[in-house]
Order: sequence, then structure tokens, then C-alpha cells
Amino acid sequence: MPQTFVIVGAKLAGGAAAAALREESFDGPVILIGAEPHPPYERPPLSKEYLRGESSFAKALVRPPDFYRANGIETRLGVRVARVDPDEKIVALADGERLSYDKALIATGGRNRRLPIPGRELEGVIVEWPEGEEQPSDYWLSNLPEDERRERLGHACVPE
Ligand SMILES: Cc1cc2nc3c(=O)[nH]c(=O)nc-3n(C[C@H](O)[C@H](O)[C@H](O)COP(=O)(O)OP(=O)(O)OC[C@H]3O[C@@H](n4cnc5c(N)ncnc54)[C@H](O)[C@@H]3O)c2cc1C
Repeated sequence: MPQTFVIVGAKLAGGAAAAALREESFDGPVILIGAEPHPPYERPPLSKEYLRGESSFAKALVRPPDFYRANGIETRLGVRVARVDPDEKIVALADGERLSYDKALIATGGRNRRLPIPGRELEGVIVEWPEGEEQPSDYWLSNLPEDERRERLGHACVPE
């Protein structure tokens, strides 16, 4: 009986893990669940090449959008996991649906800490894009007119 692998979080870690499972010949069902509506993408380019208008959002994708279907990976995007029950081996979605799993990977990443300093609420100061934006890039670009000066404060884990 093939095992079912559920991955919670569909960004770099989740998308890469799903791809690696198939590349390493895992042949059971793989279900990739992510709260954002986009297929897995890498965030670093969004504050660099993409923000400068030098590369497309498509280039930030972990795999082409049709990779997942072509490789039998079920994607549930725009869907939030409410609870993981490791005793019953159940992932409960926010809409109440319950999915059984044999193995689960939690790849939900981290959230930015909001800097508690005056001015962070001003127009043009971007802390992060709101969850559920159509494209994270829309948020970054539509809020930053081309000729405006841009300063970036913190964020990168690995120096450029
Ligand atoms: C603009 C920007 C620039 C960056 N630049 C750099 C850089 O230059 N160098 C560097 O090393 N790092 C950089 N980082 C950090 C790097 O992008 C993160 O370390 C990386 O994205 C982590 O990937 P991840 O897949 O583990 O988690 P994330 O990218 O955080 O993805 C986790 C996903 O899980 C989803 N999720 C969370 N909870 C749930 C739930 N309950 N149900 C369903 N889905 C859920 C989230 O919505 C999210 O889509 C940058 C980050 C940002 C935002």
C-alpha cells in the first residue's frame, strides 16, 4: 500500500521537498498544501532582481507551474491548515476537511517580526506583503513608483 506524504507550506522548502520526493522515486500520493494562492516560489528575488524589474516572477518559481500536475503532486493552494494531529495522522484544513497522512512535513517557514518603531505605518514603508495578495510582486511593485528611492532594512539571512 503506497504511503501518503502531506507537505504543509508550499514555498521554497515545501515545493523543493515535493519535487525531491518524486525525483527520489517516492511513488505514493504527495499533497502540497499552502496558504498562498501561488505555486511555490523563492522570496529572495522579490526584494532584489524582481524589485529592480530585472527578472520576472516566473523566474522565482521553484518549478514551472505545470510540474506538480505532471509529476502527480496534488497542490492545494490558497488553503490553510488549521491543525496537524500526529496521533491520528490527520491534517485538518481550515474549511474542516481532514486529510490522512502517513508522513507529514511542516514547512511553514517564519513570519517577519514587525519592527516596533515610529514610522513603520507610513505610506511606502513595506514590512511584508499581506497574505492572499494576488501576486506578492503586485504589492511590491505597485507600491513603489519607478523613480522613487528605495531603502531596504534587514531581511536577508545570507549576505548578497
Ligand atoms: C523579500 C524577502 C527577501 C529575502 N531575501 C533573502 C536572501 O537574500 N537570503 C536568504 O537567505 N533569505 C532571504 N529571505 C528569507 C527566505 O526567503 C526564507 O528563509 C525562505 O523563504 C524560507 O522558505 P520556507 O519555504 O521555509 O518558508 P516560507 O517562504 O516562509 O514559506 C512558508 C509557507 O507556508 C505557508 N503557511 C504558513 N502557515 C501555513 C498553514 N497553517 N497552512 C498552510 N500554509 C501555511 C505560508 O503562507 C508560506 O507560503 C527573504 C525573504 C523575503 C520575504
